[in-house]
Amino acid sequence: MRIGFGYDVHRFKAGRSCILCGVDIPSDFGPDGHSDADVPVHALIDALLGACALGDIGRHFPDTDDKWKAANSIELLSAAYSLVRTQGYHLGNADITIVTESPRLSPYIEQMRTVLADTLETDRGNISVKATTEEKLGFTGDGSGISATAVVLINRAE
Ligand code: MG
Repeated sequence: MRIGFGYDVHRFKAGRSCILCGVDIPSDFGPDGHSDADVPVHALIDALLGACALGDIGRHFPDTDDKWKAANSIELLSAAYSLVRTQGYHLGNADITIVTESPRLSPYIEQMRTVLADTLETDRGNISVKATTEEKLGFTGDGSGISATAVVLINRAE
């Protein structure tokens, strides 16, 4: 088995959609960025690519390429996972932590897990999504941004 780790940050901007783990969360603001800026999915993609030592999201889906403009990050996740499969591995499990002061994410966690499990063709039991705050400290605490980390294990396919 191999392990991978991913981390991502985006600035919040008023009027942007707040799409996290593929779930559109009601909010007056959302992560700003070239794509849909789905922070936890970007962290998860980097973790999957990292587990295979395949570089990072910017190498495979450069934001300078119009092909990925306003990209649906769930589609990027699917493409990244195809690369993992091509290397002869499949996902064991993934553990994601989203750090934001608001919006409140707990009502959406189960839906997020379902979207990710469907995309990665695995059981929901292999996908953990957690949300926390940083006690009003730093850039997540003052509401200027959102961060996410992801850890994955991948196993050599039988
Ligand atoms: Mg990103």
